[in-house]
Amino acid sequence: MVEKAGRAASMKFDNVLIRFFPAVYSEANFVDRTYQELSRHGFTADNTIAIVDVCRDEISQPLLRLVKDKWGEAFNLCSLAGMFFAGRTALLAAMHHAPRVGGRERYVFFAIPHIAVDGSGQVGVCERPGVGESNACGALNAFLKELQKGKLNVSLDENDLEQSLLKARLLKEIPYGQIPDLLSLTRLVQKLIVTDLENALQPIIDPGKCDYAVLSGIQIHGPDGNYVCPSPGYAIVQGARQDILLTGAKCL
Ligand SMILES: [Zn+2]
Repeated sequence: MVEKAGRAASMKFDNVLIRFFPAVYSEANFVDRTYQELSRHGFTADNTIAIVDVCRDEISQPLLRLVKDKWGEAFNLCSLAGMFFAGRTALLAAMHHAPRVGGRERYVFFAIPHIAVDGSGQVGVCERPGVGESNACGALNAFLKELQKGKLNVSLDENDLEQSLLKARLLKEIPYGQIPDLLSLTRLVQKLIVTDLENALQPIIDPGKCDYAVLSGIQIHGPDGNYVCPSPGYAIVQGARQDILLTGAKCL
């Protein structure tokens, strides 16, 4: 199911979305709908802090702005590719900044890596103003290029810390000798971001006083705007897990 973001995109773009992404929302609608779903579980802009992890890329930032417009100023965990490198210290800071309403704290995490699909259906390709044809995610693309060359620098480069960490983290997951395509790699990154966030979060969160939600998916840059293909989300409310599933995306 694909919902149109703005003016009509090309058939080839639409076909890529239909083929590779089970449901796609304009990112504004993704933010609206997840807000509606979470408000049913007690999360509102007045009692919740939003915590956002997307790629540093400027074309990813509209999602951060939409979250801010809906939820208020968001704590920023962004990194190259949206990898979760901010760690426990950042999570503790974000949690300390959450409103305390009715004796509880509430957090909503948005953990969403990105990929581009251009009008002719090329995966990983986008147009940037003043640049022309470009790529997203560039950090994942750079990693893939090193893999393809068979020459991967895995040392910790102090002048390139995030990319060094990205490579080390991904190499733990990719079987030796295999080179994924960009879409497979983006899907892997989506799962890793959530896993790494959860692993850092679990030891420090107190469900006795905190409710939280984790929303994820893949941000897609299309020729007519940004979309989100959501992954199944969830909320932990009073210690009990509630599924956050979006339904009702319009078919093309
Ligand atoms: Zn990126």
